[in-house]
Amino acid sequence: MEDWAKGHGLEPYRGRQIRHWMFKRLVSSFEKMTDLPKGLRKTLEQEVLINTLDILGTEVSRDGTKKYLFQTGDTHRIETVLIPERDHYTLCVSSQAGCAMNCRFCLTGRQGLKRDLKASEIIDQVIQVKRELDEPERMTNIVFMGMGEPLANYREVTRAIETLTEEDGMNFSHRKVTLSTCGIIRKIGELGLDVKVNLAVSLNAADEETRNFLMPVNRWNPLKELVEACRNFPLPNRRMITFEYVLVDGVNSGERDARNLARLLSGIRAKINLIPLNPYPGLDLSPPPMDRILRFREILVNRHYTALIRKSKGEDISAACGQLSGKADRDQAA
Ligand code: SAH
Repeated sequence: MEDWAKGHGLEPYRGRQIRHWMFKRLVSSFEKMTDLPKGLRKTLEQEVLINTLDILGTEVSRDGTKKYLFQTGDTHRIETVLIPERDHYTLCVSSQAGCAMNCRFCLTGRQGLKRDLKASEIIDQVIQVKRELDEPERMTNIVFMGMGEPLANYREVTRAIETLTEEDGMNFSHRKVTLSTCGIIRKIGELGLDVKVNLAVSLNAADEETRNFLMPVNRWNPLKELVEACRNFPLPNRRMITFEYVLVDGVNSGERDARNLARLLSGIRAKINLIPLNPYPGLDLSPPPMDRILRFREILVNRHYTALIRKSKGEDISAACGQLSGKADRDQAA
């Protein structure tokens, strides 16, 4: 915005004023930027988009989770999920329209990649949802766990993280922003150097063969090297890497898998999130029975890992992990 101001023969502070109105005050039109000259507001209205996405509809789950369906200027549809926790909100944002990774259990991958989102489109998900809240300051956590693979859209995602965490941007604590990846090794290395952000890795298997079956990305980003990259990821004091592990019946959820997982992660400050598979129509995989899920966790806990069973929220409105498609369910957009 400072560059834009300079380009229009204005003082750079005008740019900072506009940023303040957009990111802190969350105003929905330039009209409302009352400390700008009228003429400037007009110019802005004509030349600049204040919001890059349209809200097509929302759905609220029984558990309070709210799913937003957004449309980009070129009519791609993406979803964003607002998750109420006890004392704050977490927002789950999308980084791409569709996804090219094609993980066997994930619905988003079935549509393939439409395109990368711009940093502005990632930030706009945050702005528009936050603007609607009665207590916007309670939105403290952002997770890049919506549609898309954030490290496959590296430049725009890291730009978005910068704006989200800059003090004169949206001022989220970098301790409360988490990027989740299917494991693009080279980019994990870069990320550790470029931005401060929490890392989550969707592991989902503890041996190469099983991971190849579940996640094609493993064929050129093998598990062994992925774990090595995690070992080398610069972690601030006492912080941990989160490993997500979707439990699939008969595929990756036996006792041997749990023991392999414990061995694989040894020496890494790891927190393990076990996610029982969320089914959707047409998926030929299912979650294991509860006793096996509990046993899997017990094996990890006995080996001194922090392992939580994450019941996904928003399952009844297809807002849970792996269920985002960007397609309106019947009547949703009405
Ligand atoms: N592409 C990134 C960001 C998406 S995060 C990544 O892979 O990490 C989405 C999370 O949901 C991932 O951890 C993924 O493993 C999980 N997931 C995908 N499909 C799922 C399903 N059907 N049930 C439960 N979790 C699923």
